Parts: sequence; C-alpha cells; structure tokens
Amino acid sequence: MRTESKAQTDLFQSFFLHQDEESLQAFQSQIEAVTETLMHTFKKAGHPFSGAQSDELQKQMAAVVDVTEEARSFQDVLNEAVQPIIHSSLHVSHTKSMAHLHCPPLIQGVAGELLIGALNQSMDSWDQSPAATYVEEEMIRYWTSKAGYSAQADGVFTSGGTQSNYMGLLLARDAFCRKQWNHNVQKQGLPEGFKKLRILCSEEAHFSVKKSAAQLGLGEDAVVPVPVDDQHRMDSSAAGQILSEMQEQQLLPFAVFATSGTTDFGSLDPLEELADLSKEHGLWFHVDAAYGGGLLLSRHRHKLTGLEQADSMTLDFHKWLYQPISSGVFLLKDRSHFNLISHHADYLNSEQDEQEGVLHLVNKSVQTTRRFDALKIFLTLQTLGTDLIGRMIDQTIETAGLAAQELMRRPDFYPENPEPELSAVVFQYRPECVDADGLNRTLQQALFQNGRAVTAKTKVNGETYLKFTILNPRTTIDDVKEVLDEFERLAAQQMTGGIHLDKS
Ligand SMILES: *Cc1c(COP(=O)(O)O)cnc(C)c1O
Repeated sequence: MRTESKAQTDLFQSFFLHQDEESLQAFQSQIEAVTETLMHTFKKAGHPFSGAQSDELQKQMAAVVDVTEEARSFQDVLNEAVQPIIHSSLHVSHTKSMAHLHCPPLIQGVAGELLIGALNQSMDSWDQSPAATYVEEEMIRYWTSKAGYSAQADGVFTSGGTQSNYMGLLLARDAFCRKQWNHNVQKQGLPEGFKKLRILCSEEAHFSVKKSAAQLGLGEDAVVPVPVDDQHRMDSSAAGQILSEMQEQQLLPFAVFATSGTTDFGSLDPLEELADLSKEHGLWFHVDAAYGGGLLLSRHRHKLTGLEQADSMTLDFHKWLYQPISSGVFLLKDRSHFNLISHHADYLNSEQDEQEGVLHLVNKSVQTTRRFDALKIFLTLQTLGTDLIGRMIDQTIETAGLAAQELMRRPDFYPENPEPELSAVVFQYRPECVDADGLNRTLQQALFQNGRAVTAKTKVNGETYLKFTILNPRTTIDDVKEVLDEFERLAAQQMTGGIHLDKS
C-alpha cells in the first residue's frame, strides 16, 4: 500500500513547482514553449483579427476543447488546441485595435502575471499573503496619495471598475442608512424606507451603476439619470434641480456618482461643482475614474481637479495603465467606512487576530480569495517609472485629437466630440441621401470581418456612430487615416451594390 502511494506521489512530481530538477525542467520547458508560441504569433500578426465568422469559430472551438481522461503532452496541446485559439483571438496589441477600453498589455505586466500565478498568494488573510499583504498596502498608499487623499484614506485592489463602483455604492448606501435611521444594513437588511433611496449619475454613466443598484436591492429605477451638456458632461445645475425636486417629493438621494472619463466619449463630469453639491446636500460623492484615472500620471492631471474630494473612487489598471486583465482599485477617503462591510470568520480573520494587529485584507473586500494584482502594478511602475507611462497616456490623447481633426478634414465624416478630452473619438460617416444608421452599422461590422482594424460602434440619439478608443501609444495618425480610408472604400462598395456580410 505504502509503495503504491509512493509511486503515485512520484508520478505527480513533475506537475508542481518545487526544488527537484524534474519540476524545474518541466516548468522551464512549458514556459519556454509558451514564449516561443507567443513570439511566433507576434512576429507574423498582420491584422488585429482573423476575420473568422462566429459560427465557424464556435464549431472550431468545440472541436478544440475536447477533454479526455488521458494525459497529453503540453507541447501537443499547445500546437493543436491553443494555436487555433490564438489564431482567432483579438490581437489587442495591434496598432489598429482601437475599439474598446481594452488595452495592449505591457510586457512587464505580462511577466508580472507569471509571477502572480507561480506565487499564487491569496490576498484575503495575512497568513496566505504574508509579504503580498504589505505590497498591496504600499500600492494602495501610492494611489491614494496620487489621487490627492490624506493618510486617513485606504483602498483595496478589485477585479475592475464594476466591482469598485459596486463597492462605492454599497458603502454609500450603508453609511446613509446608519446616518438617517441608525440602521445597520449589514445585519438587518434594507430599512423600511429603502424605496425612497436614490442615486444620481449622468445619463452617460457606466451601466454598472444600474447593475449595482439592482444588486443592492434598490432596483435600477433608484438610479436617476442627470442630463449632460453639449460636451457630454453631467450638467451640475440640472443635478441641483433634480435634488430640490427630490426634496419636495420626500425622496432620499444618498449618492452623487460622477464619471471621470465616460466609456463612450471620455467626457469628464465637473468634479468640483459636483463635490460642492454633494456636500451641500450631505451626499456620498463617488467618482468613477475607471478610464480617466490614467490622467493621474499624465500632464493632463489638472483635468481631474476635485477628484480628491470624492468619498470614494474607482481606478482601473487594465485600461489606461496597460495591465493584463484584471486589475483595478477602489479607494476610500475615510478608511473607517470599511467597517461597514467587515465580517469576521474564525478560520480566516478572527477578532482575536484583529486585536493583535494582524492585517487581513478580506476586511476591505467583497471578495474572499483574491489575486495578488498589486505585484504587476508595482513591477510596472518601478520598471517604467511614472514619467514614461504618463507620456504614453499623453501620446494617445494627442493621437485622438489628431484623429478628430482628420475627421473634420474629410468629407462626410462628422466627429461627435471634435475636441476629445481623453482618447475616445465618436463619429459618423454620413454621405448625403443615405441611411446613416444602417451604413455605420454595416461599416463597423464589415471592417471587423475583414480583420484589418477593430473599431467600435455606439448610439448617439438612437443612431449608430463609429468609435475609436485609442489606448495604444504606438498607434499613429497614419493608422487612423488608413482606417478611415478603409471606411470610405467599404462605404463606396456598400453604396454601389452592397457589401456581403456573413450574418450568423
Ligand atoms: C470600463 C468601465 C467600467 C467597468 O469596469 P470593468 O473593469 O470593466 O469592470 C466602469 N466605468 C467606466 C467609466 C468604465 O469605462
């Protein structure tokens, strides 16, 4: 029996990381094989997308994802199964990949992912992340100070903007209920008057506000959209008006949710005015800087003036800090508010530990097991230095500005935000006597299918518009011009007989 079990454990040796040569060899050869594969991929990647149809891909992937009881060689799986996946993956590092807030990852971030995976620390309790806990704390200190917060601030790494926004609204709700009714939502659930609770945000705020409201038991209708001005920024006087009306209706607004960098236009809500308004009405002020947070390192930092007045904020690193997904932070002006969500489990973060001063980050998070993402951020910041990263961000803003000018120079192109604040440009191709809505939809789809560039579409006043989100500092105005040429070519084709689109 014992020898049998010894044979078993011998069999497992080469599958885990440890000091034996067998393990180290296996590790090295698999990492090398992956590196080789990726180098080969990047060497020959001509287009950002293969152009494969969705039904075709579904079939192909169903054939590739075949799980058997027997083991196979890693190299074989890499060659036969992973290759086709790579082949039709979106090539996000391509300079003509400019659709969403989906960044090319820095090499340092990718290397950081390997470290994170190999160390596999879990950020919930100190005994699962003894050094990592303090790395995350230092990184949080760095970002709170960058954001203009005092030493009273705190924060936690999150899975991204959706989670950070949720946390802001969760704390805002619970702090309000305590103040208003001396009610403990964590223990007692929603208070009786919960149907009157309201959140104000611009009509162009991210949909995670509504999702959060639903998950918080308030319902999506608790989110009151405030109109925007002609630059797509929340109109603060309209917000003031809505707040007065709410008072008359005896509704209970508890949070103003501002956006620094809306997903579509990259527009920046007027933070100082909204901070004042929030103070005047005693409301929690959350700033969603998932996109615009990148400005903290840029020479456009001044565009975020007022950010430091936020009670809480969202920053995303897998957008404008060029990190592999996922990584973001939730920052809180007054650390004591984390008490609203802390919960003690005897096996993980006992009260006794806390009295003894053991730091368990689970107290600040809505997750339990959590990634050591702080490592890749630290690695990136220390290796590149913040100046260089800031210049990358500046570069994309400049390219977006040039793109808007180029759009204005060309006949039939109309930029909706001719002076982009960040790096997103929304525009429409609108030749006379054409159904612009249909044409722009077709153009975006046709370009995606020929794979030469990846652009996005969105709706403005119910009509389809095209969109560039320029995150790659290697993207030049020539890339943009080539994409516009391609749109013109496709439009001509569409108007003289039609583009054949494979609809699946
Ligand atoms: C991307 C984005 C989010 C959502 O963040 P995820 O990291 O995708 O969860 C929220 N708000 C804004 C403004 C965003 O651009």
